[in-house]
Amino acid sequence: MTDFLLACNWKLFCSPLQERAMLANLPEPKVPTIIFPSLLSLGSKHPGYQFGAQRMDLIDQGAHTGAIGAYALAELCEWVLLGHSECRARGDNKIAEKAHQARSLGLKVMLCVSSQELDTPNVDAVAYEPLWAIGTGKVATPELIAEAIAGIRSQVSQGTKLLYGGSVTPANIASIAQNADGALVGSASASLEGLQKLFTALTG
Ligand code: PEP
Repeated sequence: MTDFLLACNWKLFCSPLQERAMLANLPEPKVPTIIFPSLLSLGSKHPGYQFGAQRMDLIDQGAHTGAIGAYALAELCEWVLLGHSECRARGDNKIAEKAHQARSLGLKVMLCVSSQELDTPNVDAVAYEPLWAIGTGKVATPELIAEAIAGIRSQVSQGTKLLYGGSVTPANIASIAQNADGALVGSASASLEGLQKLFTALTG
């Protein structure tokens, strides 16, 4: 098994029932894999996989109707994705504070950024995702990925995983593995067939 990290952002592509069926039938992971299902599907476990939440609120336990806090997520999963551009576009902010709170409660943080500017360097993984590459079919060049990853690497501690995200597919993931420690994959990961194809592209 290579140590390339495959992070799967299922967004809201599937219904909870579809996600439940997928989670019950996950293939054997061929690389370290994190699934970020919708919040409604958190809580399942599967050998070899880690799970994460797609977002969180900056709140403590208490009277916060409709919110989701780190203390709750920490019982259900290992990771939280912070700063995804689709969340930022809906007003998500205070990313550094959220990262601090999440880590202090035992969650690992994957920070999403669209440039080399980090909200905080104190995270477990950073996913570099140019805005124009997310969900567009346009993938960044190897040169751009290498340059961004090197720039981000100079700001974080050793051991922080650096991923590329943006229109990653089975056809391009092997080339992305040349320049990044992992990939954050959206639509191409949101089916069992897609997941299997990504594993095959990475490991043969
Ligand atoms: C993402 O959700 O972070 C993403 C990169 O999506 P896609 O792979 O569909 O472009």
